[in-house]
Amino acid sequence: MSAIGDALLEIYHRLLSHYGPQHWWPAEDPFEVILGAILTQATAWTNVEQALSNLKAETALTPAALRDLPRDRLAALIRPCGYYNAKAVKVKAFVERLGARYGDDLGQLFALEIVDLRRELLSIHGVGEETADSIILYAAKKPVFVIDAYTRRIIRRLGLAPEGDSYGAFQALFTKKLPPEEKLYNEYHALLVRHGKEVCRKAPRCQNCCLRPLCPY
Ligand code: SF4
Repeated sequence: MSAIGDALLEIYHRLLSHYGPQHWWPAEDPFEVILGAILTQATAWTNVEQALSNLKAETALTPAALRDLPRDRLAALIRPCGYYNAKAVKVKAFVERLGARYGDDLGQLFALEIVDLRRELLSIHGVGEETADSIILYAAKKPVFVIDAYTRRIIRRLGLAPEGDSYGAFQALFTKKLPPEEKLYNEYHALLVRHGKEVCRKAPRCQNCCLRPLCPY
């Protein structure tokens, strides 16, 4: 393992021993994970929970039911998570593709190799890299590393930011230096989110940080 790989593992173990396992993703089944990954764009998870609970109450938590639901009605149900008109279009785009190409069978979609699955997801309206990778990791349970704003901020402050600022550069930092293990990637990303929300915030709370001995910030 390289020095950066060792540093990434040290960060992981410190976060894990400080926060404990995060049990991600907080959803009942892979389809809910997918909906959550789309609905959580630019909003807090509590708002997504409210939207999912509205969909559940409407018995609309299946691909077929979501296709049948008029778009305006769908937008009204997911209103708590913001950008609801745009997100209704995205949800519709996903369930249309799932029905048309895979007969609503997530098993068929997830049988694709990671690179093909990622390409397929990215070709659906409204699915960007973070959403696609969240679906691959937390719904399909395949080892890709999810990069988000928390991860970028923490890694930058720890002095480990890769050259270039792209999503792919940050992702390669993890996937090239860590073993390709789904459980490791699952837990690591969840821990970074927790740490970014609670401690390494915009105004960081370095006094209380379990990574402080490693951090040049
Ligand atoms: S020491 Fe401060 S800047 Fe460094 S990781 Fe912790 S909270 Fe973030």
